[in-house]
Amino acid sequence: MTGPLAVIFAILGISVGSFLNVCIDRLPLKKSLVYPPSHCDNCEQRLTVLDLVPVFSYIFLRGRCRYCGAPIPRRVLLVEVASGALFFLAFWRYGLSPEFALTAFWCAVFLVIIFIDWERQLILNKVTYPAAAVALVILAVDTLLPGRGLLGNLWFVPETSILSGLIGGAIGLVFFLAVWLIKPGGIGMGDIKLAALIGLVTGFPLVVAALLIGILIGGVVAIVLLAFRLKGRKDLIPYGTFLAIGPIVTLLWGSEIINWYLGLF
Ligand SMILES: [Zn+2]
Repeated sequence: MTGPLAVIFAILGISVGSFLNVCIDRLPLKKSLVYPPSHCDNCEQRLTVLDLVPVFSYIFLRGRCRYCGAPIPRRVLLVEVASGALFFLAFWRYGLSPEFALTAFWCAVFLVIIFIDWERQLILNKVTYPAAAVALVILAVDTLLPGRGLLGNLWFVPETSILSGLIGGAIGLVFFLAVWLIKPGGIGMGDIKLAALIGLVTGFPLVVAALLIGILIGGVVAIVLLAFRLKGRKDLIPYGTFLAIGPIVTLLWGSEIINWYLGLF
């Protein structure tokens, strides 16, 4: 039963990825997510169902608009595949459970943050604020539910999960605020808010793993970009892109990471 369901959720993830592409395209431009319907940005031709089948349309149309031949950004395919893969992994990891639903949801949110920051060096309040509000509601509901928190697998202080989330959020906020105070210009306000959101989502102590993973990936990529002169020392490296990878890894493999770390001693 797990196999077919996993495939269904992978397809669901790919379809969600299509919508995430719309968010990545339109949110920074302050455009509506639903109107106008999908169209080619180059020739304005309204796209049909055939043009909009995730992944397959891209492959069959060889990454070009069917009407005018304008290239479709490779990111469209990348987001669909990534979203499908993450939904699949989340289901594989947690089965049909609240943890699965939450992990899949947050993967989708962080994918939007990752790609908007990559393309525009922007972390939108329009994304982080509502996401933080949702995180707080989830924490509150989980804490108020009878019995122990449903999210015991994700949060390591199950009986006080709202506390865990708030401590996590505070750690992200304070740490990045300190970095910002020490070296203004190194990171932006958007990065600080993102760090706080990551803390709210992952809770304590996973927030530490999430932030460290993000910082590590960002550092390695920055070194590679500088070493191969792909970016100059003055170029902006979208920090939020790497930071937002941290919570995805942590939500999927947090308990393994913690166990591995504790096993070192
Ligand atoms: Zn076109």
